[in-house]
Amino acid sequence: MNVVATVKDMQARADQWRRDGKKIAFVPTMGYLHDGHLALMKMARRHGDILVISIFVNPTQFGPQEDFERYPRDLPRDLKLAESVGVDVVFTPSAEEMYPQNYQTYVEVTEVSRPLCGARRPGHFRGVTTVVAKLFNIVKPHVAVFGEKDYQQLVVIRRMVQDLNMDVEVLGHPTVREKDGLAMSSRNVYLSSDERKVALRLYQSLMKAQELVSNGITSAAEVLQEVRSILAPDDRLVIDYAEIRDPETLEELDEINGPALLALAAFVGKARLIDNIVLTPRS
Ligand code: AMP
Repeated sequence: MNVVATVKDMQARADQWRRDGKKIAFVPTMGYLHDGHLALMKMARRHGDILVISIFVNPTQFGPQEDFERYPRDLPRDLKLAESVGVDVVFTPSAEEMYPQNYQTYVEVTEVSRPLCGARRPGHFRGVTTVVAKLFNIVKPHVAVFGEKDYQQLVVIRRMVQDLNMDVEVLGHPTVREKDGLAMSSRNVYLSSDERKVALRLYQSLMKAQELVSNGITSAAEVLQEVRSILAPDDRLVIDYAEIRDPETLEELDEINGPALLALAAFVGKARLIDNIVLTPRS
């Protein structure tokens, strides 16, 4: 496994692989890898001859009051984990390498970036789409894998790839969870053991919502009322949003007559956690 830190070196390798007729599979990450990341890498491994991952805590997707500085980082551990799932190259650029002096170009997806996390984290998706577009130009992948845990991010990236005619196949991977259902996240390290228990309410509310919908409830308001009562906001859990939207357009839904995205964001202690489920009504 090789570690590459410069754009020039990464592009030269990608060019050579392409000349050799190799298929490049790519998984972008911010590091502090967990089994969710590793599952994406194993999936990508099956879809390409060469597996590249990036580890880059992207400053442009964090707001000024957010956790960029204290975001967990452990490169030596990440490299061991990456090697264990057969990664060929880890791209680890510095912030200066990605955003040199006088940098001034950004990619913006409009409609689907607006609701949910877009409304709560101004500029977040502009940072995400900008860095992913740059990474695609640097790694030159044929296929890239993203997690459904960040559901809106996946929708936004698919839109960007389609709208800008990027020649990359985007694959989604289901959310990987701990045994008790908590969605794996690098940010889970922020949780104390008590907060960890409180955080489980997110998953419990998603499960309850699916149960209601399976039992024939179609009113989004009714489902959301139950979700809020399970989240039971108190001084340990603050709901950022709980919304039911169309899984493709992300427009708000009043009635659940087909697949419907239930998306949650909540602050538990210092951690802002997100989770989601695509609710499916009984047929
Ligand atoms: P991050 O390092 O948090 O930026 O995540 C890198 C990639 O891993 C993104 O495509 C995420 O959606 C994905 N990911 C993170 N956590 C999970 C999880 N628990 N299950 C599936 N994918 C995940």
